Amino acid sequence: MSEPIIRLQNVNKWYGQFHVLKDLNLDVAPSERIVICGPSGSGKSTMIRCINRLEEHQEGRIIVDGTELTNDLKQIEAIRRDVGMVFQHFNLFPHMTVLENLTLGPVWVLKRPKAEAEATAMKYLERVRIPDQASKYPGQLSGGQQQRVAIARSLCMNPKIMLFDEPTSALDPEMVKEVLDVMVELAEETGMTMLCVTHEMGFARKVADRVIFMDHGEIIEENAPDEFFDHPKNERTRLFLSQIL
Ligand code: ADP
Ligand code: MG
Repeated sequence: MSEPIIRLQNVNKWYGQFHVLKDLNLDVAPSERIVICGPSGSGKSTMIRCINRLEEHQEGRIIVDGTELTNDLKQIEAIRRDVGMVFQHFNLFPHMTVLENLTLGPVWVLKRPKAEAEATAMKYLERVRIPDQASKYPGQLSGGQQQRVAIARSLCMNPKIMLFDEPTSALDPEMVKEVLDVMVELAEETGMTMLCVTHEMGFARKVADRVIFMDHGEIIEENAPDEFFDHPKNERTRLFLSQIL
């Protein structure tokens, strides 16, 4: 494998007394697409939030694009610039239009000229198939449209890595596909490194290079998607899959 773009080495984290991440080891290659699944409360969100330091680990090392995550704020900022994140609840600014949501980061953080930021924003709105919604407010859009705005907003920051935390689990069923389609396209048409927490098995089979199963803060099993779903090795994985499939 080429030099990993994300490396977790013996990562441990506690919330108070509660051991939430237990000795995690994970190397992610550039352009690799990883799906993370596992029961609720198994530490999936905590793990991916540690990768852009929304949460702090207490033991072990996390290295992102050659930079180790420590308390050095400059390094945290540098890493956050490389890492985009899309959440279950879209986290758009409700008082700003779609276009303003998309240009805020590029103008204020990346210091791009406004016209250039707007042109980039429109390019990504085309990509997620809602250029006609640019002047609306988030509250005027469907959930699926809002999530596509959130994806476009991340792309406007030109990240090397995208983290998705259950991006479709808050959506009505009829909107899940339009968001997954955009994510499949993103995976297939760009070399973006993607880590996605999701239980959407069709998506995992289509785009994932590897599926990782977490339970009780541990990585229990990982494999290529077809092997993972068709021949799960661990008893806990089998139990989990029998409950969601
Ligand atoms: P998942 O995303 O797999 O559902 P999480 O990473 O959100 O799991 O949470 C893992 C465990 O850590 C859960 O038991 C949850 O209640 C607990 N937890 C999450 N965030 C906090 C927090 N800020 N403080 C204390 N416990 C937390
Ligand atoms: Mg979660």
